[in-house]
Amino acid sequence: MAITLPSGFEDMLPAEARFYHGFVETARRIFGAYGYVPIITPQVEVTELFVRGIGEATDVVSKEMFTAISGENLNTLLGGGHIKSKSRLTLRPEGTAGVVRAVVEHDLVPQGAAPAKLMYAGPMFRAERPQKGRLRQFNQIGIECLGAEAPSVDAEGIIMLMRFFSELGIPSESMVLLVNSMGCEKCRPAYRDAVRAYMAAHAEKLCDQCNERAQINPLRAFDCKNPACREVMDAAPKITDYLCDECRDHYATVLAYVDAAGISYVEDPKLVRGLDYYTRTVFEVQALDSSSAQNAIGGGGRYDKLVEEVGGRPTPGFGFALGFERCRIALEAAGKGVSDAPSCTVFVATVDDSLKPQAFGLVQRLRDAGVAADMNHQDRSLKSQLKLANKLQARFVAVLGPDELAEGLVTVRDMVGHTERTVPFDEVESALF
Ligand code: AMP
Repeated sequence: MAITLPSGFEDMLPAEARFYHGFVETARRIFGAYGYVPIITPQVEVTELFVRGIGEATDVVSKEMFTAISGENLNTLLGGGHIKSKSRLTLRPEGTAGVVRAVVEHDLVPQGAAPAKLMYAGPMFRAERPQKGRLRQFNQIGIECLGAEAPSVDAEGIIMLMRFFSELGIPSESMVLLVNSMGCEKCRPAYRDAVRAYMAAHAEKLCDQCNERAQINPLRAFDCKNPACREVMDAAPKITDYLCDECRDHYATVLAYVDAAGISYVEDPKLVRGLDYYTRTVFEVQALDSSSAQNAIGGGGRYDKLVEEVGGRPTPGFGFALGFERCRIALEAAGKGVSDAPSCTVFVATVDDSLKPQAFGLVQRLRDAGVAADMNHQDRSLKSQLKLANKLQARFVAVLGPDELAEGLVTVRDMVGHTERTVPFDEVESALF
């Protein structure tokens, strides 16, 4: 029996893969205009990085990590041995922790330096239950700005993300931007205590998991999908009533910059995001017309404590990530699919097989001149070669025939204009363009 892909994983076939490259290129262009430069970090990191960075009590760390095990370590485990913590490796479930690790390891933000503005693109891995828009391997594009606390960083990040979505073609009326501030280590503890006390008072209505969450990290309960928990949490204390003056000012300035850019948003005091490292600004963009229950197309926020958490100097940070597959679903809902683009500009056909060496030479010459060219590599009649050229959406077909070639000529058909002309074999490149 043929071996097939495990569920939660997807192949990107050529049209999709081409679209993905364009998607990343658009991000590189737009984010580049805001000063973001690319960084590529490995897809595997030491497990401890995610445990410390993302937080032990998060769903991502407690349930969804794919922990990689080498053959050697597997044998050690099967033999009842112990694997040292630095040999425990995990496929990255998100991009921020790895980028922050690299920034610290290579000292990319020396004291007093301008902030490092970094962008990444690539696959992430989470062992979630697969469904539409929720994969076990998915592709994210993200940015991280390390070394600046100013609200202008948060605002320009949000504006840049919205600009990317609109340039992709997601209509602005089909998405909503939710924003909130989660406070800082000064004001959040009191808020967390207030939520914990509120949850204790409503314990009988909450699910077991939320009652457990109330002990470790009560704010996680805002993400619970259970309708009874939702109803309880809807009336829970609001962070906005607990922010300290600095956090309130920071948040107000972020919103003022976003307002000035003409971007609309909804303030959502229940937005806490799934990862523990956020402080102050958090935001999420949801697709409204999406046919999928998984409608968060991107999100992020500020993480002023994360760098210290992974062992670096205190360095403020801000970042976001957006998901390629969910953007595709949102684009499809907006009637924007991907189409096959032509991969061949000139197809070189031959009247008979004896002319294949000349055809081979001509396609090489065309490629050297930067023209996408191809020829028949199988057993095909001229008619079938022309069909193939059509299928490849070739703009021109050069037909090599023995008599013409003896005179140094070749017939070129313009497949769009439906015209035909004879040009010198040695000058096909210049004659066509
Ligand atoms: P998160 O780190 O969970 O905020 O993820 C950032 C973005 O990545 C989300 O807004 C989604 O677009 C995308 N994403 C997260 N998890 C998945 C998943 N399991 N499958 C597909 N896309 C995802």
